Amino acid sequence: MSQPRDQLGRSLTDLRISVTDRCNFRCTFCMPEDREYDFVPRAEVLSYEEILRLARIFVSRGVHKVRVTGGEPLLRRDLERLIEGLAAIEGLDDLALTTNGLLLPKKAESLHRAGLQRVTVSLHSLEAATFSRLAGGRGDLAGVLAGIEAAAAAGLTPVKINTVVIQGVNDHEIVSLARRFRGDEFVLRFIEYMDVGTLNAWDPASVVSAEEIIRRIDAELPLEPAPRRHANDVAKRYRYRDGGGEVGVIASITEPFCGDCTRARLSADGHLYTCLFSAVGHDLKAPLRAGESDAELGERLDTIWGRRSDRYSEERSARLERAAASGGSAEASDEASDVLAGEARVEMFRIGG
Ligand code: SAM
Ligand code: SF4
Ligand code: SF4
Repeated sequence: MSQPRDQLGRSLTDLRISVTDRCNFRCTFCMPEDREYDFVPRAEVLSYEEILRLARIFVSRGVHKVRVTGGEPLLRRDLERLIEGLAAIEGLDDLALTTNGLLLPKKAESLHRAGLQRVTVSLHSLEAATFSRLAGGRGDLAGVLAGIEAAAAAGLTPVKINTVVIQGVNDHEIVSLARRFRGDEFVLRFIEYMDVGTLNAWDPASVVSAEEIIRRIDAELPLEPAPRRHANDVAKRYRYRDGGGEVGVIASITEPFCGDCTRARLSADGHLYTCLFSAVGHDLKAPLRAGESDAELGERLDTIWGRRSDRYSEERSARLERAAASGGSAEASDEASDVLAGEARVEMFRIGG
């Protein structure tokens, strides 16, 4: 079976599947609560059978890692049924889920039993007020912490915790989060705040660089670099020198990793996005529902991937550098606002981050 390469020679190994665009939170940096959302009508959402069929075709093209995401994936009914189906696909050797964690106390055990191997819980604050502000007043910190505990108790260890760091909002919690999630049961990863989401007031000044994050942790809990596990891992790893586990940073803004990007995203309504920042997806649902065979769908996938040349984050970096180099001029602020307006900016919740 062919394993397509894109225009930059990158293969396709990693698929994010968004099972819903709905969410029980309204994170300020993703789905701000003051907006109206046109959620995908139910009839347009891929059924589990449709997702599984597409997933098998992706695996036949080289995908071996699948991450189930959303929106909030645990809102989708009987998610265990999808997990069971995915876990049974031969050649798919890594099956993970990203969630805000609120429903994990009910779901962690059944998901693990269904074949889920790993879970990532997004948690951006350990302070009730900051948590609530960031989540748009929905959910509750105690519920998410209970979700993390439930995942660990169910054996989904190490539980990954993802924290988006926003200057002046939660950056004062970097070290307390690091302390809280030390040890072998957890792997905490800090993510640089990105220009995705709908009108999320992103500004380069809101980004705390991965380097700065590591500097602040290292000052209190000494660290040493650890090797990446796989060449295309997005997180840079560090070990606590006292043997207290590891922590990671995802430097999407300051050190873009487009050159190694072998990821694609399938949205809840069956569109394939070849970059997190692609404005336009490729409709796979229409041909699937029109009766295309697996071979035809596979060829369609080869063509889409073969034409891929996305490197949005690297281009953003170049634009920001140019803007900085011409420091403060009118052109510089135009450059910066170009980056902010980001014509390629998409709704992360819709395609699944
Ligand atoms: N609802 C689930 C959750 O929050 O984990 C899964 C979907 S969410 C879109 C996937 C990941 O994207 C989460 O870890 C979230 O924190 C991250 N994310 C959302 N908006 C982001 C932004 N502007 N910058 C960086 N990461 C972001
Ligand atoms: Fe929902 Fe996740 Fe987006 Fe927050 S980051 S609004 S939990 S989809
Ligand atoms: Fe991949 Fe696009 Fe992110 Fe670059 S910007 S790493 S191509 S998803």
